[in-house]
Amino acid sequence: MPIVLSVNSGSSSLKYQLIDMPSEHVMAKGVIERIGLGDSIHTYSMNDIKVEVTEDIANHEAAVGHLLKMVQHDKYGAIQSLDEIQAVGHRVVHGGERFSNSVLMTDEVMNQLHACIELAPLHNPANITGIQAFQKLLPSVPHVAVFDTAFHQSMPKKTYLYSLPYEYYEKFGIRKYGFHGTSHRFVTKRAAQIMDRPLEELKLISCHLGNGSSIAAVHGGQSIDTSMGFTPLAGVTMGTRSGDVDSAILPFLMDKLDLSEKEVLDIYNQKSGLLALSGISSDLRDIEEAAQQGNERANLAIDIFVERIRNYIGSYAVQMNGVDAIIFTAGIGENSQWIRSLILEKLDWMGIHFDPQQNGVRGVERELTYATSPVKAFIIPTNEELMIARDTMSISGIEEGMELCLR
Ligand code: ADP
Repeated sequence: MPIVLSVNSGSSSLKYQLIDMPSEHVMAKGVIERIGLGDSIHTYSMNDIKVEVTEDIANHEAAVGHLLKMVQHDKYGAIQSLDEIQAVGHRVVHGGERFSNSVLMTDEVMNQLHACIELAPLHNPANITGIQAFQKLLPSVPHVAVFDTAFHQSMPKKTYLYSLPYEYYEKFGIRKYGFHGTSHRFVTKRAAQIMDRPLEELKLISCHLGNGSSIAAVHGGQSIDTSMGFTPLAGVTMGTRSGDVDSAILPFLMDKLDLSEKEVLDIYNQKSGLLALSGISSDLRDIEEAAQQGNERANLAIDIFVERIRNYIGSYAVQMNGVDAIIFTAGIGENSQWIRSLILEKLDWMGIHFDPQQNGVRGVERELTYATSPVKAFIIPTNEELMIARDTMSISGIEEGMELCLR
């Protein structure tokens, strides 16, 4: 059966999963951190075996070499030879307006990825470096790019356009792009399966709540709006990101604090959000603990986070003229009983009859509403790696090859 390598390359990290398709069984997975920073750590697991190796890994190519050796290791390896890997799927953060679906990597696509760098200067270069390293070491297999932005390309113009001079959109591509698309696509598809209804007739609101958070309105399987914008800074309050703020605060702060715009933007990205509001941590677990002990700022941070999310839910229910289900996913959505209940309480008027008894779980698929509730709520653990592997299977032509073999 075909084996697909699903990859997420960051600037100093590389996460991967070796997935057997179409059984979708994860054969091995790992993460390499501190690439190029000295004392790199490669954490690898296969079934119950867990291995951690610390050594200097100078760059992404060395990291790919390391992982390819690990997956073939005599003791811990999941495969015997690299020939067993039939395709590689790569997460790419920004595909601009050029990509509304995952694509097979070609020289032309690589040129277009370079053209998207100005839209995601922190993420795309790392994604490109990762793809190039894999292409060099696995040159004879297809490589597929899967974009965070692609799913949201179905948004209508009235949603994605900002009320700024129109030529900025035409000249510079300034518009809402949205992110976490692979996750929103995965959980909304799964919701339709759980509900046993065609995705094409469902109105869904997907809440991806992690360190970065975004909400998406998905009507008939198509994203029609999402809370992140031109960059992943927009939308709801996040771990360290501010979410939506009045743009005029930026020059005001530059003046008051005598900082450059980059310095203020760094504050928006790294020193705001739950971290700034609580004054404690960007990690919700720490904030929940402090709030339970009566810490006022921690309680305020939770209130603001929940309020912003509820505002988007209300807005999206209006935009879709109704909603069939609300989905919670990612670190907070899958694990925080408290946040889920604060969001879902008092939504009876919307047809959401929340069942608190179902809410006491973490990281598992679960319906959170009574069986009779007209509008449903679910926890659906996300799986971006699997979505990447599925796209890689269908786009690389392996799936077709398999069907031909089976015929
Ligand atoms: P990323 O956006 O980095 O992928 P994750 O999806 O891993 O983030 O989400 C991280 C967030 O999930 C953190 O704020 C963390 O506190 C929160 N989280 C994880 N487990 C729990 C838990 N048991 N209770 C509350 N929050 C949790």
